[in-house]
Amino acid sequence: MQNTAAKDSKNNQNSKSANPAPATNFLQQIIEQDRAANKYGGRVVTRFPPEPNGYLHIGHSKSICLNFGLAQEFGGKCHLRFDDTNPETEDTEYVESIMEDVRWLGFDWGKDLYYASDYFEQLYQNAEELIKAGKAYVCPLNEEQLREYRGDFTTPGKDSPGRNRTVEENLDLFRRMRAGEFEEGSCTLRAKIDMKSPNMNMRDPLLYRIKKVNHHRTGDKWCIYPMYDYAHPLSDAIENITHSICTLEFQDHRPFYDWTVENAKFEGEPHQYEFARLNLSYLVMSKRKLLQMVKEGLVSGWDDPRMPTISGIRRRGYTPASIRNFAKRIGVAKAESIIDIEILEGCVKEDLDLVAHRAMAVLDPVKLVIENYPDGKTEELHAPVHPKKPELGERKFTFTKEVWIDRKDFMENPPADFHRLKPGGRVRLRNAYVVTCKEVIKDAHGHVTELRCEYDPVTLGGKPTADGVKVKGIIHWVSVTHSFEAEVRLYGRLFNVANPDVAPEGKDFKANLNPNSLTVLKNAKLEPSLKNANLETRYQFERTGYFCLDSKDSKPGALVFNMIVDL
Ligand code: ATP
Ligand code: MG
Repeated sequence: MQNTAAKDSKNNQNSKSANPAPATNFLQQIIEQDRAANKYGGRVVTRFPPEPNGYLHIGHSKSICLNFGLAQEFGGKCHLRFDDTNPETEDTEYVESIMEDVRWLGFDWGKDLYYASDYFEQLYQNAEELIKAGKAYVCPLNEEQLREYRGDFTTPGKDSPGRNRTVEENLDLFRRMRAGEFEEGSCTLRAKIDMKSPNMNMRDPLLYRIKKVNHHRTGDKWCIYPMYDYAHPLSDAIENITHSICTLEFQDHRPFYDWTVENAKFEGEPHQYEFARLNLSYLVMSKRKLLQMVKEGLVSGWDDPRMPTISGIRRRGYTPASIRNFAKRIGVAKAESIIDIEILEGCVKEDLDLVAHRAMAVLDPVKLVIENYPDGKTEELHAPVHPKKPELGERKFTFTKEVWIDRKDFMENPPADFHRLKPGGRVRLRNAYVVTCKEVIKDAHGHVTELRCEYDPVTLGGKPTADGVKVKGIIHWVSVTHSFEAEVRLYGRLFNVANPDVAPEGKDFKANLNPNSLTVLKNAKLEPSLKNANLETRYQFERTGYFCLDSKDSKPGALVFNMIVDL
């Protein structure tokens, strides 16, 4: 896995450029204006700030491509910062997977790897400064009371009993919070802003809460942890971020973002901009929901090839280039929408068509016996590895009296427009001969077990039949004696409905899971060139779809292929 990731990203590394293309989205326009006005001295510093509480998903890739992409485009840099302020749900496993995923997508943060937890002391000092300036206080309300005092959109909030404490009292209490003297939930540190603000986020928002839990990086050093909304703007300011780009749900948090930066008196003045998050049809894109599916065993793990996680689509065989193209294609907007999953699949197919090695594979085999082909005769045939890349050379396979074809390429009573094999009909075996179906053999249950055919010896190399009749259909095949068996996993949509978040009455999103999203074919028959399949290469099983080796379960001698996407 690791190897594949490293190689994939190396091949697809974007080069830095300081000559941006004409602006196509509002963020590019803003940056251009800022540079023209010499704001930030022309610097562009963005950041991708994941919380290490789960694996990244395709939605995150939009934010990654955007933040790293803008930095590249304008000759700036993009930081990778872990927003690790919620120790209960965070873990180093997630930190590592996130770094692997960003690299795989082809981006490099260089030396700029940061953790909000590295700033805990600084953030604490900033909080003391706010207290000293009369802009923060220790509040004795518990969670339920906090909610009640906060009011709602129609009711103004009520002042906390702690709001009028003296600076000395607040400092003393806050220091004792840090020293661990108080129980969890017994008090918080809050900003003193305006309990009557129409913006709920400005009604004295929390800055710190007590959590007597171990942090994956700071251990037991802290028992108070900063809130995301407080830590985030300050982390941006500490790192001299210029353009802090986040998703739309943070729009109403922007006034507090600005308040925090202004009152903490930092030199740098990052500005927050919001864009619409990526939603894709037939998928859920929330770490919480993905975690639930993993925990309940509804998928095989975060990297199940059906999952919309980066590790899932990597194992599935999607290429980083196709994800970057997808991010470009969908663009950046300020209004929420749901993107059709087929747009993503289209980008994947487009890229795979250019790179995938061709091969023949029969997924659901039925035997075809050529009665007029001599017993024991073999003929070596060949075809290009890629039709447009002669430099990749040719692959060899052998023609024999008995071949496998796919069951769906034969129909006993086909409709008029069926051009594949039927009783008495003719079809071309791809890269080989035209055959005519003479007899259909069935077992006691009426199940077709064998097709007896005759071949036309003059038709090799795409040549016309002896009688000059045009043969429309071409089907793939492999030799019975010269093919090998492998496991092939086909994937359908993970969910049955376009918007899985809308669940039937009384149920949750899991009720929309597609029970048939995985089909395992144990005895697919593959052409010999695939014996040398490797993890870095993608394959097109001709007429079927794109496939790759499964990085976890495939073993030499017992290959397992994943279907990436159909044709
Ligand atoms: P989720 O809602 O899936 O749990 P999150 O927003 O809590 O995701 P973070 O780790 O906080 O996850 O996200 C890191 C960054 O990725 C944030 O800047 C966030 O705005 C962005 N991001 C998350 N989901 C999407 C999405 N669907 N489309 C675009 N950007 C996203
Ligand atoms: Mg978040």
